[in-house]
Amino acid sequence: MAAFRPDPPRPITPVAPPSDTPHGVAAPVARVIEAFRRLPGIGPKSAQRLAYHLIRMSEAEAEELADAINGIKQRITLCQICADITELPTCHICQNPNRDRTTICVVEEPLDVTALERTRAYNGLYHVLHGAISPTSGIAASDLKIKELLQRLQNQQTNDQVTEVIVATNTNLDGEATAMYLQRAISPAGIKVTRLARGLPSGTDIEYADDATLAHSLQSRAEIE
Ligand SMILES: [Zn+2]
Repeated sequence: MAAFRPDPPRPITPVAPPSDTPHGVAAPVARVIEAFRRLPGIGPKSAQRLAYHLIRMSEAEAEELADAINGIKQRITLCQICADITELPTCHICQNPNRDRTTICVVEEPLDVTALERTRAYNGLYHVLHGAISPTSGIAASDLKIKELLQRLQNQQTNDQVTEVIVATNTNLDGEATAMYLQRAISPAGIKVTRLARGLPSGTDIEYADDATLAHSLQSRAEIE
């Protein structure tokens, strides 16, 4: 099984300067603190608290955690069809015969699929780009799973033709740039390209939108002109 490929290169969160690690911390603990500090949303205080929590854990619990982290890298891959994270060559959504195969919802990240699934307002398929086009961060269309999406639309069977692509990228500049790019690339093929927008405040990360707002914006999606 192919190894899971991380997101395209992005600015790396700088490692905390050594002075941030409290004096007198044993090297193995300092190493864990540093590792936690590189996670999103974890500040120095939280990193320390988590590290000391690990010290108090039983050996069995610590092993279970280490094993779970290893499993993410070893057993996870990207779906051959939609690029969502899965343990199987094809994810359970792409395999499900009850999903509407005429609609593909394009999202930036796997967590966005989870957010949209939670709304229970959508029964089509997905395509995960693994990021958004961002001229400011130097992320181009070729760094994302856009080529795979266009190929997917080109290689369709005559039954189950995709008639609509819903662009559910975030409502910030990068998300909008990505939506415009997709509209220009896809609509000449006669496929309707719609955008989730109505009701979602600008600057919204799909991942953090509340279920009701997200469900509403799905239902009131509009074609991109
Ligand atoms: Zn899939």
